Amino acid sequence: MLTEFRNEPFVDFSAAANRTLMAKAIETVQSQLGKHYPLVIGGRRVDTKDRIKSLNPAQPDEIVGTVGKADVALADQAIAEAEKAFATWKKFEPAARARILWRAAAALRRRKFEFSAWLVFEAGKSWAEADADTAEAIDFLDFYGREAVRWGADQPATRYPGEDNHVFYVPLGVGVAIPPWNFPLAIMAGMTTAAAVAGNTVVLKPASVTPVIAAKFVELLEEAGMPPGVVNFVPGSGGAIGDHIVQHPRTRFITFTGSKEVGLRIWELAAKPAPGQIWLKRVVAEMGGKDAILVDETADLDGAAEAIVNSAFGYQGQKCSACSRAIVVKSVYKDVLDRVVERAKKITVGPPRDPANWMGPVIDEASFRKINEYVEVGRKEGKVVLGGEKWNAAGYFIPPVIVADVKPTARIHCEEIFGPVLAFLEARDFEHGLEIANATEFGLTGALWSRDRARLERARQEFHVGNLYFNRKCTGALVDVHPFGGFNMSGTDSKAGGRDYLGLFLQMKSVSEKL
Ligand code: NAP
Repeated sequence: MLTEFRNEPFVDFSAAANRTLMAKAIETVQSQLGKHYPLVIGGRRVDTKDRIKSLNPAQPDEIVGTVGKADVALADQAIAEAEKAFATWKKFEPAARARILWRAAAALRRRKFEFSAWLVFEAGKSWAEADADTAEAIDFLDFYGREAVRWGADQPATRYPGEDNHVFYVPLGVGVAIPPWNFPLAIMAGMTTAAAVAGNTVVLKPASVTPVIAAKFVELLEEAGMPPGVVNFVPGSGGAIGDHIVQHPRTRFITFTGSKEVGLRIWELAAKPAPGQIWLKRVVAEMGGKDAILVDETADLDGAAEAIVNSAFGYQGQKCSACSRAIVVKSVYKDVLDRVVERAKKITVGPPRDPANWMGPVIDEASFRKINEYVEVGRKEGKVVLGGEKWNAAGYFIPPVIVADVKPTARIHCEEIFGPVLAFLEARDFEHGLEIANATEFGLTGALWSRDRARLERARQEFHVGNLYFNRKCTGALVDVHPFGGFNMSGTDSKAGGRDYLGLFLQMKSVSEKL
């Protein structure tokens, strides 16, 4: 019998046995760096002359691996193979599809240290952040498998005299999955397998800076019994093949997670039917954030400071849910700022293979440059009270940056930076703070720290974000505990890890027979 879904527990790295397992996994992965992973199209390995190099952001002269690089012709082949596979895959019982995900979840659970070690090398994650990414991937597999069974059942319909009525869900067809690099295992795996377990077939184009972990995951799916052509591994530059696969007339849906700019482009391109296209494409777009933690004068200030630091600087601020704005009411502004600076000063920064380092590098040179440019903008728009010095060693490291006395109109308050840069804003009072928190085009996560019940209830209604937290950090959403996704320019209002999610990859069919 199917057990109830449970979230995968996080590894306790304070236990010596777990530290030893992780250190061993890091050594094993180190010995496997530099390998090559071709494309996988219709179950066949397809190699290309052009290759994408994945580099360790903590040590950019270290090659994590290389993957094949698809051109438009190979992308077309992948779509054709996915379409071929769809003809049989859609007829699998939902439980049979789900079993493949559960087998993959079990395998990932057995190999969790190894997968986490790949994340340390390829994405610059600390041990704890890498483990959380792997645990979330396991959760998605376990949860979406269960959801496929639930959505696969006959749906209720009102009885009508003289007719036998039957309502059920059917899959859409061939989809394109375009994940980001920041949860290169969990989000990539979740987007891909949610679509697949619903009966669709997928062309997976991983983010170009983190393709190796995706290649490893596709191998794992094959080992778990995923039939050829259901998930096709098609790395390639977003610029070169992205538009093509989005616009392809046989693409039925696009599931995307990434920046607002790319999401809007996909939304627009997908809206225009290509010659020969016979459907309206569905787009699931999960995009950026500019997330705020609001602290009022009744709050537990120590707790708030701790939550701000964790949310702003965990994984170097490269989470769509990261706190990039601390909005604090005037009477406690200085106090909270001092507490946050004190804590952030103690953060250890360096290569994440060493568990003593709480923060690792940002993902690549382009991000490193962009974030440092924002620090310069911050100097003009406020007062840099922590960080901002140049890092002179190898690796794309940026220690925590805090910019105080920022105005709501400032660029660093409005634009997503996606790095460890935190803007501090003073609000006159709670009302004003809530107004500032909502003064953004995004609406992904937010938190309120307050002991005032009336304010908490007001925020419940008026703090306009998809994921709102009270008296805790604004990161760390768990599958089916905090279904995740934002409002406004944060996306299409989808909720990854929620019970609506599979419906995005299905369409309802009603069959009525006259008796
Ligand atoms: P990105 O630059 O938008 O890239 C995301 C994906 O889109 C990558 O696979 C990228 O491929 C691809 N891409 C680029 N241009 C494309 C095009 N013209 N057509 C089709 N695909 C294209 O975002 P990112 O830097 O990877 O990720 C960070 C962003 O993701 C942040 O804005 C963050 O807030 C957001 N995010 C949102 C959520 C959420 O749940 N709402 C979760 C995580 C991250 P290449 O790598 O080859 O360029």
